[in-house]
Amino acid sequence: MIVGLSTLLAVGKLYSPRLFLLQLSKLEGAGFNIGYVRYRLIEGFDSAWSKGALWSVVVGGTAAGGLSYLLSKRIMRPLLQMERITKQFASGNLDARLPASEIPEINQLAKSFNQMATGIAGVEQRRRELVGDMTHELRTPLTVLEGYLEGLADGTIDPSVEVYQRLARETSRLRRLVNDLQELSKAEAGYLPIDIRAFDLRPLLAMLIQKFSTQVLEDGPVLQLDCPSDLPAVMADPERVEQVMVNLLGNALRYTQEGSITVKAWSCSPYVWVEVIDTGEGIADEDLPHVFERFWRADRSRDRFSGGTGIGLAISRRLVELQGGVIEAESALNRGSTFRFSLPLA
Ligand code: ADP
Repeated sequence: MIVGLSTLLAVGKLYSPRLFLLQLSKLEGAGFNIGYVRYRLIEGFDSAWSKGALWSVVVGGTAAGGLSYLLSKRIMRPLLQMERITKQFASGNLDARLPASEIPEINQLAKSFNQMATGIAGVEQRRRELVGDMTHELRTPLTVLEGYLEGLADGTIDPSVEVYQRLARETSRLRRLVNDLQELSKAEAGYLPIDIRAFDLRPLLAMLIQKFSTQVLEDGPVLQLDCPSDLPAVMADPERVEQVMVNLLGNALRYTQEGSITVKAWSCSPYVWVEVIDTGEGIADEDLPHVFERFWRADRSRDRFSGGTGIGLAISRRLVELQGGVIEAESALNRGSTFRFSLPLA
């Protein structure tokens, strides 16, 4: 406003008298005799111009100033409100959200902020749950270890090979739990590096069957591969697919005493499906929806003994999803389970 008014005054002051004089000269050239009123005319023009300029500055300045004040107040109010609410959010009130604004740009900003706030609140919620679950899971083996060590120290437990084996089992369970947790937290936060490329699934499946067959006891289940030799290539990360398969095959072996474990693969555009079918103990209908939840185990005490952490399937699901597929399970108690996942065709 100040720049506008100063320019107006400076230009007016410099040019108006000159233009007026030019007009007078033109009139004189046209034959009017204004010689004796010339001075009075110039003086009159000067005073009229100055009065006019003064009123323009007063009225224009007041109107422009008032309008600017009202407009900036209209913009400042929601901005100050935003500042207050973002501070509340930063200090831990994750439910704080910005209200809608009548100014479209500010409204858009408020919407983006609210979306970001919802995202952050979700991550925070998952973090709290994970820490809660984690402490619960770590406490049990630690209590067992503490009990045994105290017993050994005060002589109430005899130091036998079995006791030390039990201690070693609990310690390796703790190590496995910590490793799994690290993977899970990376997968949940989306920090797991995934290197997606086109590759053939069949050799990987055949290699895994070979590897796991060596772990099966003589009277244990038979491992078999049912996969067409012309299975098309998939777009996925071979290492992550192997990780998922190791989890599924490991589970199948752990929960299947006899019968068979079959790995089946087929293509059904736009996916290749891979299935691990076992004839083991199966999962009850009411438990099936929970198997992909972290730390969930069908029988907590039994699995604690058998070494399960209840994290494997949660990681597998995340890995499959990160590669653009889905994972699902079917099962019948005492008849066996089928875990199936898809990967995009290359
Ligand atoms: P865990 O390390 O305990 O196996 P998972 O997340 O891999 O953790 O599995 C969660 C639970 O799902 C297991 O504890 C088990 O109760 C059940 N489960 C998984 N796979 C099978 C299977 N093939 N047969 C029967 N139960 C299974």
